[in-house]
Amino acid sequence: MAFELPVLPYAENALAPNISEETIELHYGRHHKSHVDDLNSLIISSEFEGKSLDEIIRSSTGSIFNHAAEVWNHSFYWRCMTPNSNMRPSGAFADAIDQTFGSFEYLKEEFIRASVSIFGSGWGWLVRANDGTLELVTSAGTGNPMVDKKVPLLTCDVWEHAYYLDYRNSRLAYVKAFFELVNWEYVQAQFVDDNLG
Ligand code: MN
Repeated sequence: MAFELPVLPYAENALAPNISEETIELHYGRHHKSHVDDLNSLIISSEFEGKSLDEIIRSSTGSIFNHAAEVWNHSFYWRCMTPNSNMRPSGAFADAIDQTFGSFEYLKEEFIRASVSIFGSGWGWLVRANDGTLELVTSAGTGNPMVDKKVPLLTCDVWEHAYYLDYRNSRLAYVKAFFELVNWEYVQAQFVDDNLG
């Protein structure tokens, strides 16, 4: 019943040069894994043992929430990227982007701006709000938009461990490189799934 580190959807060197193999080894193999291990230790014999990760995120606080959110966020972050980022949003998702941001290019600019401007560690998000519109939100430290009943569509990890080996202090260079890796097919599927639900 314990949570497990999910299998990466690509090889550890597949996102290079945008994100190096060394960064993935540490970020996935050490940071992500340690959140999984810590969460498993914390929930043993607690009211959260046996609950789903989503349920824990929606109902916990403190260390359990922090590790649960970091487990969820990292699993989602890996899936938000692909070595073959050649698709662009289409259909209802593309329409929603145009409606909220005016254009895909402006979404890109605003997503990068929002992620870069987070003070300290955190996560930049594209989400679907209750009224069906798109929004950019940020989490300081950890957090997850689902606690505000918003549907995560895309996230960028801006903790320094995500980019310091590759880009040193240039978070901007990292977020730009991240954006080139976005798996729009996956992001769009989150938007469409929720519409059907
Ligand atoms: Mn991270």
